[in-house]
Order: sequence, then structure tokens, then C-alpha cells
Amino acid sequence: MADREELSRHILVAGGGIAGLTTAIAFAARGFSVRLFERSPDPQEHGAGLQMSPNATGILDRLGVLARLRGAALQPNDVLLRDARSLGEIARVPLGDAATRRWGAPYLALHRADLHAALMTVASRDDNIEIVTGATVRDAATHPHGVTASVDVGGRVREAAGRLLALADVVWSANRRLVGAASDSAFTGRVAWRATLRSGAGALAGLIAPDSVNAFLHPRAHLIAYPIRGGASVNLAAFAHGPATDSAWAKTADVAALANAFSGADDALLRLLREAGPWTVWPIHTVDPASPWIDPAGIVTVGDAAHAMTPFAAQGAALAIEDAYVLAENVAAQPHAVSIALVRYERERRERVAAVARRGQLNEFAWHAGMPVSLARNLFLRLRGPDRLAADMDWLYGWKPPAAA
Ligand SMILES: Cc1cc2nc3c(=O)[nH]c(=O)nc-3n(C[C@H](O)[C@H](O)[C@H](O)COP(=O)(O)OP(=O)(O)OC[C@H]3O[C@@H](n4cnc5c(N)ncnc54)[C@H](O)[C@@H]3O)c2cc1C
Repeated sequence: MADREELSRHILVAGGGIAGLTTAIAFAARGFSVRLFERSPDPQEHGAGLQMSPNATGILDRLGVLARLRGAALQPNDVLLRDARSLGEIARVPLGDAATRRWGAPYLALHRADLHAALMTVASRDDNIEIVTGATVRDAATHPHGVTASVDVGGRVREAAGRLLALADVVWSANRRLVGAASDSAFTGRVAWRATLRSGAGALAGLIAPDSVNAFLHPRAHLIAYPIRGGASVNLAAFAHGPATDSAWAKTADVAALANAFSGADDALLRLLREAGPWTVWPIHTVDPASPWIDPAGIVTVGDAAHAMTPFAAQGAALAIEDAYVLAENVAAQPHAVSIALVRYERERRERVAAVARRGQLNEFAWHAGMPVSLARNLFLRLRGPDRLAADMDWLYGWKPPAAA
């Protein structure tokens, strides 16, 4: 009986990315002991920039992570939408202190490695969390008192037992099958291009507002540029149609294809694209939104493993952080009725995640609009004005975790 009681306070996590680390911290904060398995022997975040909106930074604050981002993260003054061809301003959404006042937590721009490092520091200093690196979760089986995972550590398979296994193991999760979902993700036909420039680089001058999230809209593509590393660098991310590539950022891309996607853009923007390299590309995959997320007996997906979506609302990592917190909140409220807690988690999260995915689709449609829709878009945004555009985001950025009943 004592063993069963002990097991009910023990959580297993597969994956040490943003979703997995936040899940571990959120459970440990509620008194659970957590064992997190990360496939990589030396886990680090690859990729570059992240926008972290207040719905997520509020949670990072509650978990003691936000304070560790000081210096590395900046609060951009605004989101500035501009036409890639004329460079004219289309709209501006105020951020900075106005975001903190409006949504109760800061809107940040930062390097993902800085967020990952902050999460890792908090998790590794927590006595309730054990992080096992070089450990790949290969399989799991549920039983009446919880779940047993098979973990490959250096070619030797070990078993680990817990009340719950949280799968936070990437959009390409092979373990999704454990909750009855297809393990395949779907390539969207779109790719992300990424480059980093040091602030003050000549090609940025007069083009990129250094304290803003700059978005240049074009009918076939868009480019986002914002400061990272406390303002020392500028993160550039462009999104366009493109062929499927390996699932890694490492691939160096041919800038001619990117320039072609932006054909007709202002010369200064095209020069920036040419001079900013080397660019890397990332194939954008999504997970079928109708896929199951849980096995109520004790397995649950969080973050991209559950609901990877296109990054057009810049919310994938933010939703992963929300998932982690809501999951821990629900399980802590009903530690002896985990099935009910998981069903409740899925119900609470599905509606929210679907709404954010719709917002991403709307952004893609509006941002890549050609004539005459782009004229109507520009007029609408101009008439709406900065304050009402900010108010339109209240449901997204002003979200707070529902207290588990
Ligand atoms: C170009 C681009 C821009 C984006 N911009 C933003 C943004 O501005 N804001 C935002 O909120 N989101 C953004 N996103 C989305 C965000 O990057 C993802 O949603 C987020 O990183 C998902 O985190 P995760 O922890 O679920 O997955 P991951 O970060 O992929 O982590 C998964 C971890 O699991 C490990 N793993 C995999 N399999 C196993 C296994 N079997 N056993 C153990 N470990 C395993 C992996 O090694 C990895 O460490 C963007 C995405 C892209 C592509």
C-alpha cells in the first residue's frame, strides 16, 4: 500500500525541451517527485528566437523561471506590421510596459537557448526533479496503479515506474502511438528560414526598428525580425512555401529561393535577405488536431507532441508552457483520480489550443494576402488602431490558468 501511495506522487516525463522541463517544474512545485528522460546526452535548445507572450511569461513567473531571464530577454515596444514592397507601416500593436499593464505579465523576445537554460537551472536545482540525459523513452505500459516506461540508456533498456507519463517528446514523437494517435506528423508545405545578425549590422540600418517585433508582409511570404540576447543580436525568421527537408535546422539553405519568395519586395529588404545568411531551413510539420492526447490510465501528451501547429501565431512554446501548468494543476487537485484529471486537462486544453490554431490560420491568410484582399486588410487594421488591436489579443495574451476545481 505504501508503494502504491508513493507511486501516486511520482511523475515520469519524456523529453527535456520547453514542454518537458516546464512539466517537471510545475509538478515538482506541487510536491510531486519527477524523473525526466531526455534523449540527448547534452540537451540544449537549437534554433534562435522566441516571442514569449504574457500568457506564458505569467506562468514562468509563478514557477520562478522569469527572474532568470532578466538580461537575456527584452520587452519589445511593439509589433510593427509593414508592407514588404513599400516598407510602409500597416499597423502597430503596443507591447512594452503597455503589455505588462494590459495582460499582467511581460511580452518578451529572447533566444530559445536562454529560456532553455533558465528552465534547466530551475529544474536541476529542484530536489524533487531528477534529469536523466542520454535516455530515450521507447515504450510504456499502463497498469491499475500507474505506468511503467521502457527507457533506453546507452543501449540498455531500463524500466521506470510512475503514476503518470507525460510525453513531451517533439512533433515527431514516436511515442504518440501510446495514447492511440498516429506517430506521423504532417508536412504543411511551408518552411521557416532562420538567420541571426549582430545588432548594428549594415543591412539592418534604416530597415529594422531595433526595439520592435518587425513583420514584413508579402503575398507569398513574411519576414519577422526582433532583438534577442538582450539586444546584442537580431533574430530573422521568414516563412514561405517550400519543399520538405530533413527535420533539423542544420541544413544550410539557398538564399535565392528565399529571395524568389519575396520577389517584388523593396530593394533594402532583398539586400537584407541576401546579406543575412547563412540561412537554415526548418520544415513546418503539424500534428492532426483531432488526434487523441491522453490514455486516461496514465499517459498524456503536452506541447508539440500533442498539438504542433504552424508558428504563425508564435504560440507553440507558450501553449506548451500552459499545458504543463494546467496538467500539474489538474493532477494535483485529484492525485487519486488521475483519469478524471487527465480527461479534464484534455477538455480544458483542446478548446484553447483550437482557438490559437485558428488565430494562426487567420494570421497566415491575412499576412500573405494579395490584392485586393491586402488593401481591405490594410484599411481594416488602420481603422482599428493600436489600442483596439491590442484588445483583440486579450483572450490570447490575457489568459490565466483556470484553477482546477
Ligand atoms: C520557426 C519557428 C518559430 C517559432 N516561434 C515561436 C515563438 O515565437 N513563440 C512560441 O511560443 N513558439 C514558437 N515556435 C514553436 C516552438 O518552437 C515549439 O512549439 C516548442 O519548441 C515545442 O516545445 P516542445 O518541448 O514540445 O518540443 P521540443 O522543443 O522539440 O523538445 C522535445 C524534446 O524531447 C526530446 N525527445 C524526443 N524524443 C524523445 C524520447 N523518445 N525520449 C526522451 N526524449 C525525447 C528531444 O531531444 C527534445 O529535447 C516556433 C516554431 C518554429 C518552427
